[in-house]
Amino acid sequence: MVNNMVITPHAVTGAVAAGILTGHPLTAFVAGLVSHFLLDMIPHEEYPVKLFPSPEYPQITTKDRAISLLIIGIDALAASVITLWVVQITDLDPTLVLLGAVGGVMPDVLAVTGMAFPFLPLNWWLKVHTFFHCPPNNLTVASSLFSQIGLTAVVITAAYLFL
Ligand SMILES: [Zn+2]
Repeated sequence: MVNNMVITPHAVTGAVAAGILTGHPLTAFVAGLVSHFLLDMIPHEEYPVKLFPSPEYPQITTKDRAISLLIIGIDALAASVITLWVVQITDLDPTLVLLGAVGGVMPDVLAVTGMAFPFLPLNWWLKVHTFFHCPPNNLTVASSLFSQIGLTAVVITAAYLFL
């Protein structure tokens, strides 16, 4: 999947995984990357990203782009606020947490960039991302959004209780 994304669960899970499992900036970033692919394997639905024409969305209007940018902005803002909140409520190293969050969202950032600028390294990345992503499913956006919020809440609660 490259036409859909959800930033917040990836950022928060990457942040907590990096803060718990690593002690070095590089491994923190890698932990975020790995957490992204593990989450993508779980069946879920995501909101559509209609920024660039694609086989799934061949006709993109200015309104589509504006709505997509608004949703991505809200999601990115929520991811940033929640990640900083995790830093506040835990004793995790803030640098590791932030690098884990960046690593957690980087696969989708590169995938969306690949949609805009389809050249060889990003084309390869899109194939890797799609390989690890769950296949399309019949989950509704509402139920999937609920599960994404639930997953994020579980990760934050676990970090708060055990750290
Ligand atoms: Zn992804």
